[in-house]
Amino acid sequence: MSTEDRILEPGRIEDPLGEIRFLSLPGRDLFTQRADRFRFLAPGHALGGYLDFLALLADAQQEALDRFPPLPPPDARERALCHEHGMPLLDTRSRPRNPAWRAGLSLILRQIGEADLPEATRQTAVGLMSVDESRLEEMADVILAGDPNAAPPHELPLVAAALQVYWVHMASILGEEAFARLEPAGVCPVCGSGPATGIVRAHGTEQGLRYLCCSLCASQWHMVRVKCSNCEATHGISYYSLEGSNGAVKAESCAACNTYLKLLYLGKDGGMEAMADDLATLALDMLMDEAGKARSGPNLFYHPGGA
Ligand SMILES: [Zn+2]
Ligand SMILES: [Zn+2]
Repeated sequence: MSTEDRILEPGRIEDPLGEIRFLSLPGRDLFTQRADRFRFLAPGHALGGYLDFLALLADAQQEALDRFPPLPPPDARERALCHEHGMPLLDTRSRPRNPAWRAGLSLILRQIGEADLPEATRQTAVGLMSVDESRLEEMADVILAGDPNAAPPHELPLVAAALQVYWVHMASILGEEAFARLEPAGVCPVCGSGPATGIVRAHGTEQGLRYLCCSLCASQWHMVRVKCSNCEATHGISYYSLEGSNGAVKAESCAACNTYLKLLYLGKDGGMEAMADDLATLALDMLMDEAGKARSGPNLFYHPGGA
């Protein structure tokens, strides 16, 4: 691991916040793009088998998203309430989940159960098909609460995948104007989840701007650079990358709260996808863990010591 201790990012003078696009909602082809990226990364990768499985899972998520029934968006009263209290409109904790998410899960489980995958993986999917509704809702609650022991590690990605589809569906049918910046800026303004990673964009007026990527709904929201997304400290920020890597993925580490968040620099590799490239660089997480740094943001498919 190499460190660029105290060498801060080039001091870009950022535009006033009001002129920066603060939010990008996920596209309806999100999971197709994610599956493509997993397939690109898998060959020759130490975790190739797992990345191949995640590609098939992303295919199943796309199918579930394409077939998702229309759901009622938040009404005017809900919008006013969230605005008044500075809460995310699709908050995972306060807004009731529509049971439609379980229909998405069934579809995902059917596809995984029939896919060309190891028998144990297919059996996990088949086994989950007969789990009763209340147990599934309990599993969803603990996954969304960020509990690393939320569910048996082999069941976790399947249930989390269905929750992602539901929130991506809800987020993408609402326009960006439905959402507002929140304080603190370290949680998703759409659903209130933590960011899995950050992305530093490379093109146009957004060149050099940092966006945090939601671990659940895949929305991306702006946050200034060289600032800890966990505690908002602006001093004691260091950057780490894997020795011999091209520097496209770095861990932004904070001395104040002793956590880190991975940043993906699209200027170094424009093909990166937030979730796929996060999972393909778990070696960096392991080294940060050995250095005593905790990951600040969740990845719903990975928990240290779990998956
Ligand atoms: Zn979100
Ligand atoms: Zn911090």
